[in-house]
Amino acid sequence: MNEDIAAVREDFPILQRHVGDEQLVYLDNAATTQTPTQVYDVFEEFYGTYNANVHRGIHTLSHEASVAYEEAHDRLAEFVGASGGREELVFTKNTTESINLVAYGVGLNELGPGDNVVTTEMEHHASLVTWQQVAKRTGAEVRFIRVDEDGHLDMDHAAELIDENTQLLSVVHISNVLGTVNPVAELAEVAHDRDALVFVDGAQAVPNRRVDVEEIDADFYAFSGHKMAGPTGIGCLYGKKHLLESMEPFLYGGEMIRHVTYEDSTWNRPPWKFEAGTPPIAEGIALAAAADYLDEVGMDTVEEREHELAQYALERLAERDDVETYGPSLGEDRSGLVAFNVDGLHGHDLSALLDERGIAVRAGDHCTQPLHDRLDIPGSVRASFYLYNTTEEIDLLLDAVDDARDELDDHLESNYHELVYE
Ligand code: PMP
Repeated sequence: MNEDIAAVREDFPILQRHVGDEQLVYLDNAATTQTPTQVYDVFEEFYGTYNANVHRGIHTLSHEASVAYEEAHDRLAEFVGASGGREELVFTKNTTESINLVAYGVGLNELGPGDNVVTTEMEHHASLVTWQQVAKRTGAEVRFIRVDEDGHLDMDHAAELIDENTQLLSVVHISNVLGTVNPVAELAEVAHDRDALVFVDGAQAVPNRRVDVEEIDADFYAFSGHKMAGPTGIGCLYGKKHLLESMEPFLYGGEMIRHVTYEDSTWNRPPWKFEAGTPPIAEGIALAAAADYLDEVGMDTVEEREHELAQYALERLAERDDVETYGPSLGEDRSGLVAFNVDGLHGHDLSALLDERGIAVRAGDHCTQPLHDRLDIPGSVRASFYLYNTTEEIDLLLDAVDDARDELDDHLESNYHELVYE
């Protein structure tokens, strides 16, 4: 393990824990990343010194909490290259809520029969189900850009599907199963040429590489705190200022209003217009600390390290003739995750066996059932890496797969023996 990784690992005490007698090997980062002390110390500081509600009180604690919470919006806007600061950055609960905010604000209000939403075959349920249900309620159509055998989007198909009736293109920046990095800027250009809005699901991108929403020219861009070394309970929605200003609110209540009478109400400015009720204050401030942490390490370093780990994992898995992996091939740009299947071994059995070795991976459909149907597999095992993982941990994963194979072979042999000779 090189010295830099060793230093980073010290920031994550959880990595020292044991599962049973085994040292934890955490390879489930695409689901949730671990949190460094620099981030969770924020909770102690907040609750220990300035816990108060925001925007409401005139007292010192409320003022301190409000300033920190508002500045956290600016910090996250900066982190993803949004030059409009807080007015373009709404705090939500997670990526899912960010998508629903757009689905309610734009989808339900502006779609109708004859309109279509273009999305892809590799979407997470968070967006796929949302657009599907919006379409059912509005009479609009959802179209899916094909994914080819190597896990890339068929760009010709995209250009065919996006037409003058397309109101919105919703595309995942990086697939949480294939690791594919989609050409979102190119797709945004095609969509904008047809006057469609562009929504990007960046849940797997913002944690892992430098994202610039303005370079992509996304109209909306969503991501989650818990996948980028931040806390749970907080996510973000970037939206172009004029769109957030003109859009209908998602949730109604306190904080999001400007003036209320018994008859009617007017709305606060973005982002507060979209943050009804008491928001996730400590979480927002801690998420800004996570952005600081990642910048300190350097997003280029994070991307490089993940790339190396994914390539190493792909190489090691390719040594086996009983393993199938999914997504772009070795050497291509892809994110730090690898989904695979081992012949004859059910993913859940394998992941249970890995857990006995302290190795945390994810097995199942990873909230992409239609994609798994498309790949014609019931599920897959996914190992996903972050800035603190090492190649030694990938070796441990491969050793455990070896042992699982041996156990299965022994089991099959003894069953065969029983059948034939007993
Ligand atoms: N989109 C993608 C690509 C994801 O990987 C995930 C999380 N697995 C989500 C959306 C949903 O994120 P959250 O559960 O934080 O809302």
